[in-house]
Amino acid sequence: MDKISGWVAEFVQCACPLNRDTMLPTGNHSAYSRDQMMPDRTTTVIRLEDVVRTADEFDQLVSQALPVFLERATSSTKRFLRETGQWADDVAHEKFVLRWGAEYLERFLVCGRSEAPCRPLFLLDSFVAKQHSQPDPFCYHPDLLTPLGRYLDGLVARAVISRDALIALYHHCYGMGPRDVIAITGLNELESQRIYKNFRRWRDSGWQRTMDEIGMTDVELEELVVQQQRHPQRFHHETERLVRFAQAHYRKSEPDHYPCLSRSQWGAMFSEGHGCDYRLWHLVLCADCIQTAWDLGRNGDETVGKPRVELHVRP
Ligand SMILES: [Zn+2]
Ligand SMILES: [Zn+2]
Repeated sequence: MDKISGWVAEFVQCACPLNRDTMLPTGNHSAYSRDQMMPDRTTTVIRLEDVVRTADEFDQLVSQALPVFLERATSSTKRFLRETGQWADDVAHEKFVLRWGAEYLERFLVCGRSEAPCRPLFLLDSFVAKQHSQPDPFCYHPDLLTPLGRYLDGLVARAVISRDALIALYHHCYGMGPRDVIAITGLNELESQRIYKNFRRWRDSGWQRTMDEIGMTDVELEELVVQQQRHPQRFHHETERLVRFAQAHYRKSEPDHYPCLSRSQWGAMFSEGHGCDYRLWHLVLCADCIQTAWDLGRNGDETVGKPRVELHVRP
């Protein structure tokens, strides 16, 4: 995990306004990831309004006050949506501002340090305001406007607020069935039962409802299937690129499960049997970590093939 995503993860963790239990039951992942990701807080405290003189001072101040900065970025994004009549009080909108607050913060961390000397807090305000004054402030990738892009973006966006859709992503992105999902995430008996229900509900109604919401027509879906058959290589390449892009973006909606873990951290999580939500959430949204998890869980058992991004258009 790089430094910035670590920072943002720590930062969003503390500021997440959501009751995450609306989607997934709480495990003890918070304590776990907090221990792993907490930056050193024993360094001298700089006051937020102070001027920082160098890029290093910028880094120091921002890393000490990540929760404050994230809260600031998300609340001004929320205000912007309210003022422009785009806000609604629901989980989807809360996740949206959280994701974009984290997104803006990441960009701010990169470009803000070159602005020193400056007052970081006010610099962030003007940075976010500048983003919001653009013609399309939340346009994060033009490629997502193609039918394939719309399909993937819509599917992953749905997974952020629906557990059925989240579990279904294992099928759509990696071609896994319930048994593969259970094996790769190392779920126990009780947790496993829910996976079958998630798959069933998704096939019965969730998928069609989601396609209607995204506005994917049957003709467009059929066209995707045809493209995939005609140009398997090109299609696969394009899918992998877009899947990774959407994954990285939407992972930020669930700050507690956002950071990639090292092999040994995953190993500990699996052997100690905790972090069930972390595994379910992160692995389906991270094409790299899912391979690590597969590697760790193998035990000579080859029934589940090594996961690779492979689009399955229909449920
Ligand atoms: Zn993004
Ligand atoms: Zn990861």
